[in-house]
Amino acid sequence: MIALRAGSATDVGQVRSNNQDRLLEANPVFAVADGMGGAAAGEVASATAIEALQAWFAAIDAPTPDDLIRGAEKANRAVWDRAEANSEMRGMGTTLVALALVEAEKVAIANVGDSRLYAMHQGELRQVTEDHNLVAELVAEGRLSAEEAEFHPRRNIMTRALGVDPVVPVDLFLEDAEAGDRYLLCSDGLPREVKDDQIASILRRMSNPEEAAKELVDEANRKGGNDNITVVVVDVVDAEKDTVDATSVVPAVAPALETEERDESRASLRRPKLRGSKQESDDREPAPPKARLITLRVVAFVLVLLLLVAGGAVGVAWYARSGYFVGLRGQEITVFKGRPGGVLWWKPTVAQATITSTADIESRHVADLQAGVEEPSLGAANQFVTSLVIEKQQAETAALPPTTATTLPNPIAPATT
Ligand code: MG
Repeated sequence: MIALRAGSATDVGQVRSNNQDRLLEANPVFAVADGMGGAAAGEVASATAIEALQAWFAAIDAPTPDDLIRGAEKANRAVWDRAEANSEMRGMGTTLVALALVEAEKVAIANVGDSRLYAMHQGELRQVTEDHNLVAELVAEGRLSAEEAEFHPRRNIMTRALGVDPVVPVDLFLEDAEAGDRYLLCSDGLPREVKDDQIASILRRMSNPEEAAKELVDEANRKGGNDNITVVVVDVVDAEKDTVDATSVVPAVAPALETEERDESRASLRRPKLRGSKQESDDREPAPPKARLITLRVVAFVLVLLLLVAGGAVGVAWYARSGYFVGLRGQEITVFKGRPGGVLWWKPTVAQATITSTADIESRHVADLQAGVEEPSLGAANQFVTSLVIEKQQAETAALPPTTATTLPNPIAPATT
């Protein structure tokens, strides 16, 4: 029978102001998550993933490889849901590398992102997981050499992460575990600074997993500490011979909490980055998933459409409300603002009531007034009404004896409505 015992360490590093890494020690399950996202989102993403994973395994006595995949999927969903629920968290994500002791003397390893798991067997170190980032994939495809990859400007582009899609493919690895084997889970802050042979050297030299973990973090800080550094060292021991209770040496969970105090003290230690390969910022962005790109396009299209519709509506409203016409309210001749009959839901309004009725004008104009006679301004509309009244008066005057005096009423009176 084999058992696991572990030690861990995490540190904000020399440059960053907060630690977005989280780790889980819940023997026989161990994990490292490295969050990304603006402001506090990276920390939320990694913490959410680790909490979901822990909650999932809390109810499982003897985990199987399938449980590990399910746990990673649960963690993915938890981060995704949280990002969906909070617009400030949109786009956040996290890596997750997790190891669990499963039946038949094996460990299962689940991985999404560019945190890593290394296995050390008989003193030989081997990277088990594959990094899900653009450069690593180009190397795997033979399109980039390992040397080119080390200085590649797009080293930080991740191709897979938890929380950026509702579902995520999870890599699973199964390893035969025997007493004396050692596993290393780490965020990218370690291999960025410390070469694999140096990592192997430290792991060979320091038998206590806690001390080994601390030394690895210290070494990464000595080499620059450009990123958060998180390390979990897991030893495979013979359960019968091992005198240390595997569950008693580690706390169930050791979230990588950083206090404000610590952030401030770290801030004073910040120093310029000196080495070319470390110059790039680590504000990693997951490659935008296709589904989200399509969603963005649809949203952009709908927005443009809405703008066009809104612009059109403003134009129509302007047209509908500009101009005047002379029409009828019952028998009363009235000046309206707007268009005869209205435009869509913009109905004409009374601009000027008059004391003139259809009896004051020639009857041949009534049909025109019923339809509405458009005029460019209120003044022009009033003049038109006056001209109709004068026309009728003149016709009547012509029909009367020349000595009869004629008084013209003022056809225009202030609006009464
Ligand atoms: Mg990192």
